[in-house]
Amino acid sequence: MRPVTESDIRASFVNCTKGEAKRMAVPKDLAERPWDDLDFLGWRDPAAPERAYMVLESGEGLTGVALRLAVPNAGHFRKSMCSLCLTTHTGGGVSLMTARRAGRNGQDGNTVGAYFCADLACSLYLRGKKRAGLGGRMHESLSLEELIARTEVNLAEFVGRVVG
Ligand SMILES: [Zn+2]
Repeated sequence: MRPVTESDIRASFVNCTKGEAKRMAVPKDLAERPWDDLDFLGWRDPAAPERAYMVLESGEGLTGVALRLAVPNAGHFRKSMCSLCLTTHTGGGVSLMTARRAGRNGQDGNTVGAYFCADLACSLYLRGKKRAGLGGRMHESLSLEELIARTEVNLAEFVGRVVG
């Protein structure tokens, strides 16, 4: 994805208030992020580990989604798989995250949830730039482009559930 700025990020969130977007912890190291290798930007709030965020680019511009880790550290010893990049992790490397739905649905308390890599570094696992401890990636006969395309579809599907 193309590099984004802090103000781009704060303006992109679809499922939190303007005040929340203003206060949220945006990464300080945006200049050093490996943008060429990122399909989306994901991060955790270092001061509040239950908070996570993702920002992706689509035809309509940037879309940011604020997430909550549903049960921090649950399933610590189980193997589980990220629903975006299909990387398997052990030791809490995958977390169930929930997003408040955008607009009226969210105000009514509706959320959607999915299992994601706990560090949201799916792009780097796909490219082999980060390795998943004892888990890992199953062998697949897909090219990197196909893996990325599938991740983008999975991501769009999740964001569609937040926005829709
Ligand atoms: Zn992942």
